[in-house]
Amino acid sequence: MPLRLFNTLTGQIDQLAPSDGKAFRIYACGPTVYDYGHIGNFRTFLQIDVLRRCLKLMGVPIRHVMNITDVDDKIIRNASAAGQSIAEYSGRFVDAFFEDIAALRIERPEQIARATEHIPKMVDLVQRLAEVGAAYKTEEGSWYFRLSAFPEYGKLSKKDLSGIEDGARIDVDEYEKDSARDFALWKAAKPGETSWDTPIGRGRPGWHIECSAMSMEYLGDSFDLHAGGEDLMFPHHENEIAQSESVTHKPLALHWMHVRFLLVEGRKMSKSEGNFYTLRDLLLRGYKASAIRLALISVPYRHQLNFTFEGLTEATNAIERLRNFHERLLKGTFPAGENPEIHRLAAQAQAEYFEALSNDLNTAEARAPIFDMIRSANTAIDQGRFFAADRDSILGVLASFDAVFDVLQNHDDEPTRRALEWAEKAGRLDDVAPELLARQCVSDEAIDALVAERALAKKHRNFARADQIRQELAEKGVILEDSKDGVRWKRK
Ligand SMILES: [Zn+2]
Repeated sequence: MPLRLFNTLTGQIDQLAPSDGKAFRIYACGPTVYDYGHIGNFRTFLQIDVLRRCLKLMGVPIRHVMNITDVDDKIIRNASAAGQSIAEYSGRFVDAFFEDIAALRIERPEQIARATEHIPKMVDLVQRLAEVGAAYKTEEGSWYFRLSAFPEYGKLSKKDLSGIEDGARIDVDEYEKDSARDFALWKAAKPGETSWDTPIGRGRPGWHIECSAMSMEYLGDSFDLHAGGEDLMFPHHENEIAQSESVTHKPLALHWMHVRFLLVEGRKMSKSEGNFYTLRDLLLRGYKASAIRLALISVPYRHQLNFTFEGLTEATNAIERLRNFHERLLKGTFPAGENPEIHRLAAQAQAEYFEALSNDLNTAEARAPIFDMIRSANTAIDQGRFFAADRDSILGVLASFDAVFDVLQNHDDEPTRRALEWAEKAGRLDDVAPELLARQCVSDEAIDALVAERALAKKHRNFARADQIRQELAEKGVILEDSKDGVRWKRK
């Protein structure tokens, strides 16, 4: 089933297919590594992960490139305030970023490109722009893009940019629409700033030229899809188009995908509002990485997501239902035979799931039939209408669901453990939820010992002690389940 996706450039839903007949080539703007990623950043990376996984699920080979902006205004400013080199300063945030995306089970793109490792490519592009009259050098040694050399400027964001003063310049990496004017390609070296000695002078690249140079380096002059957060549409992506297309005269990307921003508890997320969260903040509050993943992908990418703690709890419960059902299927014993009704149930859920994803990655509509199927199958099992041969068709649907959502297997302990280690080093232990600390204080062996003691207490009809142990473990986030095969425990 082909994937159809809204294209910012054409303003309509377009079908996705590799234009070279081989692999679908994606460029996604990566992080600027000057701080820890917040949940708004990760919503964008997660939705791009959903796109990637859907294409793979539908059998489309992909080649996905993501940059890491490890030199820009903010990094230079923060590194200098910390008295560090930009490599030292940004290095720990690069590591943190990879740890965070691993925690959220965001697949790594086939190619990661760091800006500071591609300076010659950027210089080369500035030179080519100068050759066609689209770049000029100022007296102080900086290079600017000449906006008047690219009449199509504004075609992506559809902004009315008439009335812009010809030759007026802007040198900051990020700016508002009113400031649309000749933008910096290359910034002349300032005392104390990191700079490179190059044929176009001593200096450092502007942010926009990084993405043009690196996308074309790995994916060619024209590729299939360019993705990023909605805030990048203008000026960043508009500038990328201007820089690349001025020299290639080919469309930089055929398809542009923009992920909408999120609100937190109904308000714009900001540090001053007190509703600003990094992934680490949420892990320290005791939320599981899988629940954060599910909460951030369950609203389709073009809709504004209102991120709430209630939503995180809902996601936690949904994952619990999924995992319990999965375990019931795997561990249960069912009578021989099959029920054609179950086969139809699975086929219908599968079809609705694929249809929803193919339709502009509608993750909300894709989730619904899976949970409906789980409800019906659970009822069938309860009523003895579920047979051994029914299991595989239901497991097959769960596998397609998990190929994109990836929350079925429990990988949650490791990210939480790492977040706690980090909190200790970063002096953030005061921010850790008390339940989480209590939970971490009890080892698997200690739980096993208490569970064994409880079994013994029950055997000796000492129910008071047995209940006391159950209570003690519950306070530490350990749940006991009595089953035919004895007692199983799990951490909440
Ligand atoms: Zn970019």
